[in-house]
Amino acid sequence: MSETHIHDVVILGSGPAGLTAAIYTARGNLKPLLLEGEPSSTGDQPGGQLMLTTEVENFPGFPQGILGPELMSNLKEQALRFGTNITTAKVVKVDFSDSPFSIWTSVSDNPLRARSVIISTGAQALMLNVAGEDRLLGHGVSACATCDGFFFRDQKVLVVGGGDSALEEAGFLSKFASSVTVIHRRKELRASKIMQERAMKNPKISFLYNAVVKELVGKDKLEFVRIQDIETGLTEDVEAQGLFVAIGHAPNTELFKNQLELDDKGYILTRNGTQTSIPGVFAAGDVQDSKYRQAITAAGSGCMAALDVEKYLESSEK
Ligand code: NAP
Repeated sequence: MSETHIHDVVILGSGPAGLTAAIYTARGNLKPLLLEGEPSSTGDQPGGQLMLTTEVENFPGFPQGILGPELMSNLKEQALRFGTNITTAKVVKVDFSDSPFSIWTSVSDNPLRARSVIISTGAQALMLNVAGEDRLLGHGVSACATCDGFFFRDQKVLVVGGGDSALEEAGFLSKFASSVTVIHRRKELRASKIMQERAMKNPKISFLYNAVVKELVGKDKLEFVRIQDIETGLTEDVEAQGLFVAIGHAPNTELFKNQLELDDKGYILTRNGTQTSIPGVFAAGDVQDSKYRQAITAAGSGCMAALDVEKYLESSEK
């Protein structure tokens, strides 16, 4: 495609939101270009967070559940079937000040040009920011049980967090580890009841409440986790070979900070459906949703963004 080509729509990101937007815009004959991202050392990868998960049990239409990577591969196949151009590239800079918009990627010095853009860059795992964490990441410390759990066969692991992610990680890790302790900063878990019941029934999983991680200790790999009891203030060094951080996510919006209106947590603000503060730029999925953050709601908002783009392009042609 020539450098001066102006795309009707460029989609940034290849999670459920981006691929659903691609299926709809491709079927609407808009010939979408989807930039799927690139694998990175910090766990980013095309397909988004579902690539790091195991069984997805709550995506409607799969009564027996479906593996996250399989769901993403199906969505990608469906987007390709209708003519989506999927490119493995990372967005490095955008300029939304003028239409057509400019998008620079990791694979070319020249920007792509687009009449409309759908941002579906998702969110990524938050880390604890305690001493030892950066140094021991990949050496006993991880934010992805499905990626690294296998390395902890018959070992003692800890999981930090009290939400669905933490309990999902704990359940997965219990297949390998000798024991899994969930460390949560409050007395009540935030996770859904069904996940709580499942974890409580698992004989390998135990819980440490009102506890925070203060430091991760180890020479070349994790040896101890320094944990403080919030009520008594006492600290204890707990021996562990693995520590998995599952404390939530932050949106991938660094590139859009000075271009679009964001909320106080950095999520893109949308109005009238998926419209951002710039007409012609739309946002879908976790990048604009700090509340629901489900695969199905992301896919739903990807569909909305595609329909909003169709309307926008029709009205701007008049
Ligand atoms: P979440 O629901 O926001 O839970 C984050 C947990 O981490 C909370 O318990 C929070 O404690 C704790 N936390 C946050 N910052 C912390 C810190 N600095 N130190 C220690 N603990 C900290 O996030 P999530 O579990 O990733 O889930 C996000 C969304 O995805 C939810 O809507 C969830 O239902 C969904 N999800 C669903 C499934 C499933 O259905 N299979 C699986 C995974 C995720 P507080 O409780 O004190 O705030």
